[in-house]
Amino acid sequence: MKSDVYFSSIKGQSREDCFKTLLNRADTYFSQFKKGSFVGIKMTVGDEKNIGYIKPGLVRILVDNLKGREVKPFVFDTNVIYKGQRQNSVDHLNLAYRKGFTPDKIGCPYIIADSVFGTDSKIVKVESGNIKEIKVPSLMTVLKDVIVLSHVTGHIMTGFAGSVKNVAMGMASRAGKQIQHSSMKPSVSTANCTACGCCIETCPANAISDHSGRVFINTNLCIGCGECIACCKFDAVKIKWREDADVFVERMAEYARGILLKIERKVFVNFAFDITEECDCISGDDPVITEDTGIFISGDILAADKACYDMLTRSGDIFSRNKKIEAHLHLFKYAGEIGLGNLNYDLVEL
Ligand code: SF4
Ligand code: SF4
Repeated sequence: MKSDVYFSSIKGQSREDCFKTLLNRADTYFSQFKKGSFVGIKMTVGDEKNIGYIKPGLVRILVDNLKGREVKPFVFDTNVIYKGQRQNSVDHLNLAYRKGFTPDKIGCPYIIADSVFGTDSKIVKVESGNIKEIKVPSLMTVLKDVIVLSHVTGHIMTGFAGSVKNVAMGMASRAGKQIQHSSMKPSVSTANCTACGCCIETCPANAISDHSGRVFINTNLCIGCGECIACCKFDAVKIKWREDADVFVERMAEYARGILLKIERKVFVNFAFDITEECDCISGDDPVITEDTGIFISGDILAADKACYDMLTRSGDIFSRNKKIEAHLHLFKYAGEIGLGNLNYDLVEL
């Protein structure tokens, strides 16, 4: 049994036309939403300097389509665990407004789902290999209809980021995000470290300190967010890629599965435009690593990511730097084994 993945190439048309065409062709996914139902559209506006995020005009196309079905769409995201403008809902919403996600532009409210300080975090029991419970905003325990919009990019830990990462991290509470990251315990290589101080400034847990020019990470304080790895320009912050990354992606797969279990109607849309080496949490105006490809839609989260990954890597593995893609291949395999979705798909190409 295979899952359908609808795909429309960007070649010869605008992004907006590409999305409209695909929404019409993949109507079966959207016609399942019942009149009067609340449909949450999960997406992220990215970091302050990020320019590759999904633009309000594309979101508006989806919102107008949903309103035509007389459902009640709203866009949502959650707060993050690292420093920046998305650590609390006030700064986060102001950032979203600055990036054009105002109700008049997107046609519906934009909300931050886990309260002003990201403290709305309910425990949901799950039976998984690494975790027995997940922590999510209470909205995730009652929401029945979700459309996940993901900007496809590379990723500092997993090599590739699409719908699975957007659900696992983006629909977890801050506490849930920390648990997923907690297997990662970086250390500083004194041979490479220049004591520039960037990681000390960046660390949200104040876990890094400078002792007379020697920089140390206190692993008892570290929450494994990976910000020090991202900011170090001297390759001085090390993790055990195989062990740490494998556990990290397994937790992500388990979180995504746990979050989606109670959601009855779900659609996953992957936008393969402006693809950068880092995800929208880290990249600013970084150069793209491949040409714009198109948009993928599926009712199966794993099929959506796998089809997208397969197409983007068919002429060579653009996500293979530092062997991080091994982590994502492990994620695909593990996620398939635990029943997050289907790795086998039929590509319905328009
Ligand atoms: S960012 Fe890198 S080089 Fe700078 S202090 Fe931290 S580990 Fe050392
Ligand atoms: S030491 Fe690095 S991974 Fe740990 S909390 Fe600080 S920035 Fe995040």
